[in-house]
Amino acid sequence: MGEADLNRDRLELALEAAGLDLWENDLLTGTVTRKATKTFLELGFTEEEIVSGLQDVYGLFHPDDLAIVQRAVSDHVSGVTPQYRCEFRLRNKGGEWVWYANYGRIMDGHTDTPGKRLIGVTFNIDDRKRKEDEIAQINRQLREQNELLQQLNTALEQLAACDALTGLSNRRTLMDLGARECLRTAQLGQPLSLMVVDIDHFKAVNDAWGHLAGDRVICAVAQACLARSRTAVDIVARFGGEEFVIVLPGIDTKSALRMAESLRNAVSAHNVLVDGDGACVTVTVSIGVATLDDVRGASFEELVNTADKALYRAKQAGRNNVQMAAPGPHARNDILVVLDPDTAEGRVLAN
Ligand code: GH3
Ligand code: MG
Ligand code: MG
Repeated sequence: MGEADLNRDRLELALEAAGLDLWENDLLTGTVTRKATKTFLELGFTEEEIVSGLQDVYGLFHPDDLAIVQRAVSDHVSGVTPQYRCEFRLRNKGGEWVWYANYGRIMDGHTDTPGKRLIGVTFNIDDRKRKEDEIAQINRQLREQNELLQQLNTALEQLAACDALTGLSNRRTLMDLGARECLRTAQLGQPLSLMVVDIDHFKAVNDAWGHLAGDRVICAVAQACLARSRTAVDIVARFGGEEFVIVLPGIDTKSALRMAESLRNAVSAHNVLVDGDGACVTVTVSIGVATLDDVRGASFEELVNTADKALYRAKQAGRNNVQMAAPGPHARNDILVVLDPDTAEGRVLAN
């Protein structure tokens, strides 16, 4: 056996072991000078079908892949890519698609025959492709599940942040958001006002009409608070049983007092339907107002406490009433301001 024969046998052995099917094309004449026989056999075609050329390889390509293969060839032939590489599906005898890959290169100058010989190998990558598809599918499912989880988490966060009866922010949310607003308005040099709103003699409503009627009244007052607040700016929260807090960023005392007065009026003018027979209840609210004009060092909690003290005074002043107290460690501690009902202006009464 000559060295050339031995080399050919060595090549055959290597190709066989690696599962590679060698082919050659003459790109000038467009002829296939060596056919990828193993691939055709693997696809289920007979020797006769292969030899007779009944099976033209291009006829077997998946329509979506043909352009990719042709592009890969032309990119290599024109020198854009150092190798010809592509992945594609071929239809087997049973009509199923099987994934293959080609790897080749133009090999000129080895013979005296002029031409553009594209020599390459075809190999089966179906297992790998199917695994890749499975992984992609699993990843897609994971992404979808993640999105669902995120949506559920957002919904849960919203539920945890809200009061179940009224849908307003709950106390914990109020304290978090309020503290944040405190810092933000301080940085902007803006005032921050706050109202504590409490339904007057609410226990009597429960006693006379029952707890469910009481709940309806709470919801009606919550709606009145919401209706007078700025969406996405003010924080409206249920602070406790029949007590609400409204945080008004950027609002000074004068405006806050006017808003409180408007809310007080609106509640007292509203008849709340409390049962199916058309029975109505009218309630009033008392409101304590506080403003932070210079919040450096003063906390949101202090602001709430100050407004709460003002609320206490509003109750003492006979209920259905608005009172304001200046907050904080800034000298004007707990000054009682009485609202003039005609002008809605605050007037300092006493320390
Ligand atoms: P004041 O004018 O001094 O505020 O008197 P009030 O009766 O409104 O105040 P009090 O604190 O004595 O009573 C509040 C009542 O609110 C007592 C409690 O049973 C009731 N309450 C608290 N939470 C709820 C609730 O979610 N639904 C109902 N229906 N009642 C509630
Ligand atoms: Mg009350
Ligand atoms: Mg109360």
